[in-house]
Amino acid sequence: MGEKTKLAVSPAIQVGGSVFTPQQLAKIGTVTDSAAKIEMTSFKQLYVEVPLDKREAIQNELEHAGLEVYPAGFATKSLIACNFCKGTKEAGLETARILNRAIAGIETPTPLKIGYAGCALGTSEPLIKDIGVIKIRDTFDIYVGGEPKGIKASMGRLLVSGVTEERLVPVVSTLIDFYKEQAKGKEKFVKFVDRITMDQLKQLIA
Ligand code: SF4
Repeated sequence: MGEKTKLAVSPAIQVGGSVFTPQQLAKIGTVTDSAAKIEMTSFKQLYVEVPLDKREAIQNELEHAGLEVYPAGFATKSLIACNFCKGTKEAGLETARILNRAIAGIETPTPLKIGYAGCALGTSEPLIKDIGVIKIRDTFDIYVGGEPKGIKASMGRLLVSGVTEERLVPVVSTLIDFYKEQAKGKEKFVKFVDRITMDQLKQLIA
């Protein structure tokens, strides 16, 4: 293999969670070189090593198999969603898919994780994501600054509650855009939130 790159591959957001079909796993195993590394990340994406010059063709093939393909590294990860066990409507599956389409794969100063839970049980652990969205009845609460790594790990703090379905994508997109504009170098999102302050973020999305 010549020069290599990595693709971040995940199944669609669906009831049951991050479930691959046998055909999709077989496809992932055959599209790239037999010596390629395939890494299971902690954020529900597989990093698949592919030849740089075949990247586009492989991406097309994976997408044709129903998989989602995003840039690896310094970008927003695909939405880390729950299993929607309470049902598509009650847990907000369609809203989560819309949010994922709007926010996944955006180039950011550091990798950014955005979590989504369809109810307050929060089994997708949204409070330890950079941005966490929790559906509460018909609206959404948004938390920011969750950080699971290091000895100074922290829980996300409630930024806003009662966000309507229509406002959800604009609010999360505004946070991502602001982080892209205002982060100092490779400033982590949790540090960015501390420096900018919750009050300023609240004003930004008001
Ligand atoms: S967050 Fe709620 S709806 Fe989603 S899988 Fe967990 S318990 Fe089910």
